[in-house]
This record gives sequence, C-alpha cells and structure tokens, in this order.
Amino acid sequence: MIIGSGFGGSVAALRAAEKGYRVAVLEAGRLAANDPSARRFLFESLADRGVAPSAAAALGRLGDPAVSEEIGRRLGAARSDEERRALVLALRLDASPAARAELERFAREGGGSPAFQAKALRGLEQ
Ligand SMILES: Cc1cc2nc3c(=O)[nH]c(=O)nc-3n(C[C@H](O)[C@H](O)[C@H](O)COP(=O)(O)OP(=O)(O)OC[C@H]3O[C@@H](n4cnc5c(N)ncnc54)[C@H](O)[C@@H]3O)c2cc1C
Repeated sequence: MIIGSGFGGSVAALRAAEKGYRVAVLEAGRLAANDPSARRFLFESLADRGVAPSAAAALGRLGDPAVSEEIGRRLGAARSDEERRALVLALRLDASPAARAELERFAREGGGSPAFQAKALRGLEQ
C-alpha cells in the first residue's frame, strides 16, 4: 500500500509492481480530470514526441466530453500525421460516445495523408 502518488510514491509503486507485488496507491490530491492546469499540461505534452503516447493515454482515460471535443478540434487543425496519430489514439482510448462522435466526424471530413485517413477509418471499424 503506497500513500501518495508523488515522485517517491509513484516510483515505489512502479518498482514494486515490476517485482510482481500487487500495489494500491492512495492519493489525497486532485484528479487531473478536475484540474484544468493538468489538462493543459497533457494537451501541451501531445506536441512532444517522447511524451505524446502517455499524454494521449491519460487524456483518453479522462472520458470527459469537453476533453473529447477539444481533442476533436485539435485533430481538425492538426498539421502533421504525427500530431494526428496522438490525437486519434487519445480518442480511441476514450471509448465514450463523445470521443466516438469526434472520431467519426474526423473520418467523414478527412484530413492527413490517404494512408493515415485509411488508418483512422479502420480504427472506427474496430
Ligand atoms: C514548485 C516546485 C517545483 C519543483 N521543481 C523541481 C524540479 O524542477 N526538479 C526536481 O527534481 N524537483 C523539483 N521540486 C521538488 C519535487 O517536487 C519534490 O522533491 C518531490 O515531489 C518530492 O517527492 P515526494 O514523493 O516525496 O512528495 P510529493 O511529490 O509531494 O508527493 C506526495 C504526495 O502524497 C500525497 N499525500 C499527502 N498526504 C497524503 C495522505 N494523507 N493520503 C494520501 N495522499 C497524501 C500528496 O497529495 C502528494 O501527491 C519542485 C517542487 C515544487 C514545489
């Protein structure tokens, strides 16, 4: 049982889990889902190649319609397939109706290279 998900607690939890222990983490602080500055940080991290997949995973887990809409907006304005990939990943990890609607809108309206568009459509069928 780990109390607190700060640097110390998170690393201890990860190391214990890697060794095969069952780990529970108790955190007294706010959830990113309720914290606009944490959301902003996650969105900004989507531009960073090294962090983008984990930021997408975290955003996907929020399952918040406002977040799905923001991802959809960014997807429509994205300038590279790399950027689109992280955003599509976030929508696919968030299986909510709002995320699906954004993904469908993107697939209908098109955007990105033909190869990327085909991938987005395949993602919708799964
Ligand atoms: C503004 C700022 C900038 C910093 N910048 C840097 C930097 O650039 N580089 C660097 O190396 N260090 C930096 N630090 C220091 C670094 O953040 C700390 O050294 C580090 O976070 C300490 O880790 P920790 O796990 O001990 O505690 P914390 O990261 O503080 O984590 C403790 C966690 O426990 C939770 N908690 C507390 N009480 C309870 C309870 N009773 N039940 C459940 N959960 C509880 C808290 O909510 C918190 O999430 C900075 C610190 C601050 C404040």
